[in-house]
Amino acid sequence: MPPAPWRGSLPRPRGRPFLVASDPVPTIRLVYSSAAAGGTTYSTLVDIMSQAHTRNMAQGITGILCYGSGQFLQALEGERAAVTALYHRIAVDRRHDDCQLMSVDEIESRAFPEWTMKVVNWEDGDMARRRTMLQADTGSEVFTPSAMTATQASAFLMHLAELERELAGD
Ligand code: FAD
Repeated sequence: MPPAPWRGSLPRPRGRPFLVASDPVPTIRLVYSSAAAGGTTYSTLVDIMSQAHTRNMAQGITGILCYGSGQFLQALEGERAAVTALYHRIAVDRRHDDCQLMSVDEIESRAFPEWTMKVVNWEDGDMARRRTMLQADTGSEVFTPSAMTATQASAFLMHLAELERELAGD
């Protein structure tokens, strides 16, 4: 099966395609939650991510990061060594704290192959649909990643990605 088409705004990296069913290197998806440190806002996050896109692309890392109510929920996908190294860097970043590792799964295909990191501001979007989705996935209409189970967090991020793709007309 050919790799999923590249739909990000950044140029697709040359050479080795992102993904992976036949990739001999173990590929994982890691999900964690954290709390923004004082002074870290959505605009800080946008600054962080403008650098992170380049790093993630170089490392073949894809994923999604949702920010809301001062909390982060992020999924990182890629080769195990690259994702592990990135998580270790993120976990000691002083711009957030209370990093809670929710799940690490070996995967056969990526859920977010087109995004070197899709950043979503929870409070800026179709809130009616978002709240309905969050309620269905987590039993709460309030975005509180630290209270989600691993299964709820994964389902929520997958559905959020579907909503984002739909809005983008993909
Ligand atoms: P350096 O850039 O050398 O920074 C070292 C430390 O200095 C940081 O950990 C931080 O505590 C502090 N620091 C650096 N710049 C600033 C600043 N402008 N203001 C305040 N403190 C600062 N990186 C990725 O590559 N990919 C990702 O997907 C990714 N996701 C992230 C998600 C979140 C929620 C956060 C908070 C950070 C994320 N980062 C991501 C950034 C990551 O934590 C590292 O800062 C980055 O990977 C660079 O690593 P480094 O060791 O070179 O850190």
